[in-house]
Amino acid sequence: MVKQRGGGVARLLLLAVALNALIPSVSWAQMRADVPIPVTASILPLKFFCQRIGGQRVNVQLLVPPGASPHTYEPSPRAVALASRARVFVMVGAGLEPWAERFIHGTTSQDVRLVEAARGIDLLADEESPSWSPKENHKKQQGNPHVWLDPLLAKEICRRIAEALADVDPDHRYFYRSQLRHLLHQMDRLHEEITRRVKDFSIREYVCFHPSFAYFSRRYGLRRVGVIKASPDKEPTPRRLREIVQHIRSYRIRVVFAEPQLNSRLAEVIAREAGVEVLMLDPIGGRPPYGSDYFALMRHNLSVMESAMR
Ligand SMILES: [Zn+2]
Repeated sequence: MVKQRGGGVARLLLLAVALNALIPSVSWAQMRADVPIPVTASILPLKFFCQRIGGQRVNVQLLVPPGASPHTYEPSPRAVALASRARVFVMVGAGLEPWAERFIHGTTSQDVRLVEAARGIDLLADEESPSWSPKENHKKQQGNPHVWLDPLLAKEICRRIAEALADVDPDHRYFYRSQLRHLLHQMDRLHEEITRRVKDFSIREYVCFHPSFAYFSRRYGLRRVGVIKASPDKEPTPRRLREIVQHIRSYRIRVVFAEPQLNSRLAEVIAREAGVEVLMLDPIGGRPPYGSDYFALMRHNLSVMESAMR
């Protein structure tokens, strides 16, 4: 029995040697090519786009964890170290991730492809934003950064991600292109669905805590008539709060929209004052029932709006 087993091992060894001789040396390059591309994305929707376009070809690191706000996030040293190895770095830009400057300056020596979602998009101005001087506007593109919540702008972001992946991994460019085509098709269907469902809204005006649905509103003809915090670092004045309560009454608004990533205490105070309720619109995702799926997130937000505005 022992002898037989020994013979088996010898045959296996022989087989391995024979196979090794048969496999050409390019197999090593092939193996390297199968290692996923390290990608870093600042927020969950961007990670979702990267994963949908890159599939098994990418390994996507998420910086802002679910539940946190990109406005107030601070990356850990571990996250910085991991992000410095990324070959594609995807962020929104337009001032949403001030902490990301560190990554970009820290990785300039390396061959990293940077995708800034808000770049080249005509940004909406956030009214009453204190930190933006005209001088700074010349230096850097600033404005409302929440561009990913308009599916048609999201298509443009997805195109740029696909382009970046094809740049760093040209062998698989046709794969990225076909994944992109499928994703763009889904975006079109989402856009059509939102357009159709918003038509039934009886109230077009709304009040929110933070102006994250500005591009969504512009696309679908909704109108923000009050925002509690126009920018994350600015507290509203009592006069502003009184105006918001008046707007809620005069437009017969039934709900104040808050966000799960930001403290909604002020939204609750205003809602109580005006005799309406607070509902959550989530601009980022990562919670039940929609999880990290952008399309599920968008349809969930649409249902919340429907319950308040139809
Ligand atoms: Zn925001």
